Amino acid sequence: MQDEEAVLERLKKEGIEFLQLQFTDLMGNVKSLTVPKNRFEDVIYNGIMFDGSSILGFKEIQNSDMKAVPELSSYILLSNENYAGKTVRFVCKIFNPDGTRFEGDPRYILERQVERLAKENKTYYVGPELEYFIFEQDEDGNPTVYPSDLGGYFDREPLDKSFTVKQEILQKLEAVNYYPEASHHEVAYGQHEIDVKYSTAVEMADRIIIIKSIVKETANAYGYHATFMPKPIKGINGNGMHVHQSIFSGDENLFYDERNKYGLSEYAMHYLGGILQYVPGAAPVLASTVNSYKRLIPGFEAPVYIAWANKNRSALIRVPHASPKGKRMELRFPDSAGNQYLQFAVILGMGLEGIENKIEPPEPVEKNIFEMSREERIKNGIKSMPGSLGQALDAFRESTLMKKILGDFMYDEFLKAKEKEWEDFRSHVTDWEIKKYLDLY
Ligand code: GLU
Ligand code: MG
Ligand code: MG
Repeated sequence: MQDEEAVLERLKKEGIEFLQLQFTDLMGNVKSLTVPKNRFEDVIYNGIMFDGSSILGFKEIQNSDMKAVPELSSYILLSNENYAGKTVRFVCKIFNPDGTRFEGDPRYILERQVERLAKENKTYYVGPELEYFIFEQDEDGNPTVYPSDLGGYFDREPLDKSFTVKQEILQKLEAVNYYPEASHHEVAYGQHEIDVKYSTAVEMADRIIIIKSIVKETANAYGYHATFMPKPIKGINGNGMHVHQSIFSGDENLFYDERNKYGLSEYAMHYLGGILQYVPGAAPVLASTVNSYKRLIPGFEAPVYIAWANKNRSALIRVPHASPKGKRMELRFPDSAGNQYLQFAVILGMGLEGIENKIEPPEPVEKNIFEMSREERIKNGIKSMPGSLGQALDAFRESTLMKKILGDFMYDEFLKAKEKEWEDFRSHVTDWEIKKYLDLY
């Protein structure tokens, strides 16, 4: 086929020595195989067999032969000063030995949701805001939790000590055509954000893996440690991944309607209604770690309550004022310490459920919800999101929609893995408990 030939030609012309074949496990951790030049032709045409038995969420030992087939359009030349030769990365699709798609491949789960829209010639766009900390390393090069500077929101050099690191990140993202938009110092000490131009959901999930590694590698080259961990330090803001979303039909933004007082079409209102109705069940996918729920507490610009708003940043979903093309919804609950394929899949799946069932959202809440009393919230019908991974898993267990979106296999594997994580944490005796109770009782 032309495509394969063209790719092989390009690899030769660009002097590529290695292919990195990449996919994610169910947690979103990147797994990869490195292939040398003599295998290029075989791998580009046929993919590569591998043993999936030790990969979380993949097959059991007795049934573990899997095949990774590179998605040729995901060609990207990686730059890392430690590489021995020029390296191109491909994201792979995972297949069973019988040639069917593997139902535990997170990318396949997102592709399935996106396909529902593609059938109607519609496209789902996402634009994530990735927040992260830059911390000092100790003298042995190990990460610490000491912020690299004492800067705050939008501070510049010399207060922002990572100014050059961020410039280099922007250069690298520009070089791979990810259209970085802006980078800025965030509210907390040593905290930053990188925004890239919106793209289709599958492409964006592929890109986020690379963006995170570019941020980490670049910070490391300057002697720092970058982390996307949701809440590394108590008492200051954590790292979110707000997700801006819209659905287009060709050039037309289906979320926009000037006749509606919020500038949102009926289609968008139903999408919004779907997310607000089903979002508790999606919590462990959107905020996947024990630590995620330490970020999601009142007072740190991260959402806790199920509501939407135009301006109010304490809401779960914000609908910024925007031009017809730019009309979008910003979901503020997710963090990037999860699997972006699954995250975008469940967000879109909830929205589409709202559209299909014409679910009406409640009125927006423009008051700061953190300042409302419990009674006021109850009076306004504002419910809370799960407050821990344990509560999130309770909601997930009850969600037939999550099962439908993820499919039985992924739903069960995800639940098993996260229940284990939660039980492990629950049985852990923390420093906080020792300090609080050891002397007292
Ligand atoms: N860091 C905040 C969060 O945890 C968000 C701050 C902002 O609005 O950018 O979601
Ligand atoms: Mg931010
Ligand atoms: Mg935001």
